[in-house]
Amino acid sequence: MTSHFPNRQSSKTSSFQMLENANQEILTKILNFNNPAITKQFLETLQSKNALYHKIIQNSPDLIWLKDSNGLYLLCNQRFVDFVGIPESDILGQSDTTLKAPNLSDLLKVNAEEAIALDPIVYVIENQATFANDGHCEVIEVTQSPLYDEAGNLLGILGIGHNVTIRKQSELKLQKSEERLALAMRGANDGLWDWNLQTDEVYYSPRWKSMLGYEPHELEHHFRTWLNLVHPEDKAPVLEQIRAYIAGTAHTFEAEMRMQHKDGQIVYVLSRAFLVHRNLDNQAIRLVGTHVDITERKKADLFDDKHAEILKMIATGIPAPAIYDEIALLYEGQHAGLRCSMLELENGRLLHGGAPSLPKEYCEAVHGLENGPEVGSCGTSTYTGKRVLVENIETDPKWAKLKSAALPHGLRCCWSEPIKSSSGEVLGAFGMYYNHPALPNEEELNDLISAARLASIVMERDHAQKRIRQLAYTDILTGLASRAHLYQTVEASIQGYKRYHHRFSLLYIDLDDFKGVNDSLGHDAGDLLLKEIAKRLQVVCSKLDFVARLSGDEFCIVLRDMEKEEYSAAAIAQRCLKQISYPLELCGRYITPACSIGIANFPEDGTDLATLLKAADTALYAAKAKGKNQYVFYEPELTKQAEYRFQIEQYLRQAIEKKELYLVFQPQIHLKTGKIAGIEALARWHHPTLGNIPPQDFIPTAERIGMIKPLTEWVLKTACKQVASWHHKGFAVSPMSVNISPEHFLDNDFVPFIQHLLEETKIKAKHLNLEVTESVVQTNPKNLEVFQQLKSLGVSIAIDDFGTGFSSFASLKHLTVDYLKLDKYFIDDMAIDRKSQVLLRSMIDMGHNLGHGIIAEGVETVEQVQMLRQLGCDVAQGYLFSRPLEGKKVPNFLRDKI
Ligand code: C2E
Ligand code: CA
Ligand code: CA
Repeated sequence: MTSHFPNRQSSKTSSFQMLENANQEILTKILNFNNPAITKQFLETLQSKNALYHKIIQNSPDLIWLKDSNGLYLLCNQRFVDFVGIPESDILGQSDTTLKAPNLSDLLKVNAEEAIALDPIVYVIENQATFANDGHCEVIEVTQSPLYDEAGNLLGILGIGHNVTIRKQSELKLQKSEERLALAMRGANDGLWDWNLQTDEVYYSPRWKSMLGYEPHELEHHFRTWLNLVHPEDKAPVLEQIRAYIAGTAHTFEAEMRMQHKDGQIVYVLSRAFLVHRNLDNQAIRLVGTHVDITERKKADLFDDKHAEILKMIATGIPAPAIYDEIALLYEGQHAGLRCSMLELENGRLLHGGAPSLPKEYCEAVHGLENGPEVGSCGTSTYTGKRVLVENIETDPKWAKLKSAALPHGLRCCWSEPIKSSSGEVLGAFGMYYNHPALPNEEELNDLISAARLASIVMERDHAQKRIRQLAYTDILTGLASRAHLYQTVEASIQGYKRYHHRFSLLYIDLDDFKGVNDSLGHDAGDLLLKEIAKRLQVVCSKLDFVARLSGDEFCIVLRDMEKEEYSAAAIAQRCLKQISYPLELCGRYITPACSIGIANFPEDGTDLATLLKAADTALYAAKAKGKNQYVFYEPELTKQAEYRFQIEQYLRQAIEKKELYLVFQPQIHLKTGKIAGIEALARWHHPTLGNIPPQDFIPTAERIGMIKPLTEWVLKTACKQVASWHHKGFAVSPMSVNISPEHFLDNDFVPFIQHLLEETKIKAKHLNLEVTESVVQTNPKNLEVFQQLKSLGVSIAIDDFGTGFSSFASLKHLTVDYLKLDKYFIDDMAIDRKSQVLLRSMIDMGHNLGHGIIAEGVETVEQVQMLRQLGCDVAQGYLFSRPLEGKKVPNFLRDKI
């Protein structure tokens, strides 16, 4: 070994000498003390101290030696002797070279030069050392340091060899495992972090950094760095999890979190801590973990979740615009910088559906555009039904007219996929925009197609819903609001009252004799009339009012603006009556419609929908009962009447069985001869508690509740039996007229029933006359057939209440009608109204010309009889001759008239 030390001494003796001198010096100092006792004590102490030093050095687990400046050994301890394998006496005075101990040179030689070059004063080397005494190996850390005396002369070099085998082994182990880990990390493409909890320093692997877009030399090595890159929302929970793991309350640390990429994007990271070093106090001192980039998987998961959520929204009926926005956001999340839009096509126009990320001005510019072969991407795709991919909005001719709206917002390319219904109808378009010119890659194209498909489900559902709503809330025939819409409006007005205290009125309108129009002119004519009535009602109502058609010929108006007199319910009702009564032409015929109106006021007549409607309906019924073509306000009294009607309905069903019905008979007289011309059977009902119920009360009820057929059959049977009985007794009264309701007349069983009846009661067909109202006088093949069949049986037919309905002489010519029974209305007016006279005359003349006999009904005065005679009327019926009579009184009446 080459020594570089200054003040080198050349001999072993001189160094010893120097030590000796130093000791002597101390001794002299001690001996100069005057107190021999102290001196003695001191000397003893000194001696024992030297012995102590010697012992310590000898027993030290470290190798200790001292060399002089020439490298000759001055001192060494037992461990050193064991190591070198040469007795101490042979070591002292020798140098490393002369000692010839190979393990010694191994221990000291390696890298010593370099170590000294680094630090000439103190150097440390570490080496594998094999002990010569027993051959075992240790890793020895050698420290060699120079010793100087007070004058700065080099005394020698102190060497200490410390056994670091255990530390070395664990270091090696750790190093190995870290190497393996690093390799594993690199292989697994995971980022690694290694956090020293005591210093808060963290090692981030290059992969960890690159995952977030950083170079290996970037980012500070602090835990703070790590944490600052975590998404603010995820920071607290992640930190909490780490703490729990460190504290030992959680067994694992595994967390998914969002981290910020250098370019601003979100990277989804799965973090796992898999190793914790704990100190003797069981405190964690080191945490090692991995980061895996799970962005792709996470995005796919999120996409699937969102997709499922959207399907759920569709299924649960969330409004379409909200879903359109979600769809746009879903696909925008798939591609950075992408912006999506959904446009709906309605009557050839593009309507804004949803585009949460597109600028409002742009959306407004597109909204309402007519589609066509060159109207941007979406206008074109909805027009052609094909996908349109525009790479550059600025240069593509399809965007020539629209680009000024798109370019200022940075939109540079637009791809559009038509949104089609399951039947292939184009419902709209899905558009994808980027701020740079581009054509879609495979993934983008797939997304464009799947987005359009998803949007189509929503759009188709929305269309169906709109259609359903329209169907439910609009009356298709008239375009007015429907019954459902009325109910909703009334409910809303009731709710509104609680807040605004706005009263309102409900006008229940029913056309008078609409059934007659339907039956005589056909349903198409009826529909035309209803449409016209709807228009007229709208003319009457202000914008504030609400007009609905409930069903058939029933309409309803909700009047809300009733402050002024002219808008009062009465004024509006009056205007409705007037407006509706203007004559109109229907199928070449002029008719004068009329209506009846029931009015209910909120809140006086009812505070809920059902009560209000019932009140208005009850008032309407009263208007009808009072003679139609008028309005009636609801009164509680009307409810009593309604209850009466209800009772009629209830009791009527059993009236026949309980034999509460009976017949009365009203004779008809030949005006020329004064002889009996026939007799009309009229039904009567006496109820034990309700008393006599007039036919005007129970016949319409019977018609309404489907009781008219059994009732009329009973009347027919009873009347025919009566005829048979009279004939049997010699009273040849004929024919017996029976009133037949139109519906029953047209029933398939009717003619067979009559046939059977004649056979059963054994009366001749000519003795039976059927009275039907004008509504059956239609040139409908089915009606013609009934007339013909009855005619061939030999039964005669009279048209009752002639002149009040919608029949015409023209339609009569096809039918086999025997008599026209002029309505009492004309007879009543005859004496005072010239017009009635003129009408009667022409009806009688025309009837005669067509071969019909003429009967006048409701004749009450002699004057009327005279006039009817002059007009050539054949037969008359009325109180003047006789009120309807009970069966047993008839023979008496007839005695002189047969
Ligand atoms: P209708 O067929 O027009 O019968 C004539 C009605 O006028 C009868 O009323 C009769 O009593 C009444 N009448 C007769 N002469 C006069 C008169 O000089 N002055 C006045 N003021 N009235 C007179 P009624 O019996 O109350 O019958 C009313 C209506 O009820 C009938 O009108 C008819 O439409 C219906 N009806 C009655 N019985 C039956 C039936 O058995 N079957 C069907 N389907 N309807 C019936
Ligand atoms: Ca009649
Ligand atoms: Ca009549």
